[in-house]
Amino acid sequence: MRVLITGVTGQDGAYLSQLLLGKGYEVFGLVRRSASADVIDERLRWLGIAGKVHMVDGNLTDLSALIRTMQDVKPDEVYNLGAQSFVKSSWQQPLLTGQVTGIGAVNVLEAVRIARPQAKFYQASSSEMFGLIQEPVQSEKTPFYPRSPYAAAKLYAHWMTVNYRESFGLHASNGILFNHESPLRGIEFVTRKVTDGAARIKLGLATELKLGNLDAKRDWGHARDYVQAMWLMLQQETPDDYVVATGRTVTVRDMCRLAFGHVGLNYEEFVKVDPAFMRPAEVDVLLGDPAKAKAKLGWQAETSLETMMAEMVDADLFRHRSRMR
Ligand code: GDP
Repeated sequence: MRVLITGVTGQDGAYLSQLLLGKGYEVFGLVRRSASADVIDERLRWLGIAGKVHMVDGNLTDLSALIRTMQDVKPDEVYNLGAQSFVKSSWQQPLLTGQVTGIGAVNVLEAVRIARPQAKFYQASSSEMFGLIQEPVQSEKTPFYPRSPYAAAKLYAHWMTVNYRESFGLHASNGILFNHESPLRGIEFVTRKVTDGAARIKLGLATELKLGNLDAKRDWGHARDYVQAMWLMLQQETPDDYVVATGRTVTVRDMCRLAFGHVGLNYEEFVKVDPAFMRPAEVDVLLGDPAKAKAKLGWQAETSLETMMAEMVDADLFRHRSRMR
């Protein structure tokens, strides 16, 4: 079996590659050309699989290159994980976010339709699409209300995936994944910013941590668990859309308490609120209902928030100690 993953250098791309290599897949990853080529496979290296993934030059905005990639790689499964994925940056770069996160997904769908229609397709949909929540617990049936250029772009990609499934009979599925984290999470996302901050303060490398809205609530799971749900969706006979979540929601404040508590510190002494990290429009609370994923895929989140935060803080302590040596 051959698989093509866009966004292979990101958090989920790395964990999904690890999962699929373990299942005997030949893994091809689409990589955007960058001057920082030496650090691009950092996450794959962290998992010890850097040499095992075939890197293919490409870009979600370049349809002809995507078509040629489909012709060359001949994937059985295609996972579209590539995106401008940071919500806050999407107000600064709304058009780029639309082009990469929205149109980019349709470019991949087009490339599949034209050059590899038998491939199964996974779209990384997002809980951010629920935005200003219309129901206290969000399921596949909850109406969407996107609150950022990122969420609006993801919503377009989501409906285009549904549309290509219904119009052309593609085996195309959306995973509506709630926030998922790990030691490989980008440093700008709040969980990793907090675990990195707690580690720095513990080691005497920093004295405070500046954050935005501490009252925001998220349903946080572990990326390693969530990539399993992606794979399971593509093993089903019929394509469909699934919420992937833990069913528990926690404030940023409580998440800080967990991270700092893991190294014996009281977060209240170190965390400062800085308006620079507030957003023009906030998603106050997200809480997913993973019942369908459990019933149909047999999937459920395995890692607790406590275990995950401890793993992330320990990884950041390890990183900083290695640099200090
Ligand atoms: P998102 O849910 O995809 O936007 O994931 P993030 O990890 O970027 O943000 C999660 C929540 O944490 C949002 O409601 C943010 O407003 C809130 N938050 C509070 N302080 C910060 C911060 O300093 N950085 C980030 N990224 N988010 C913060």
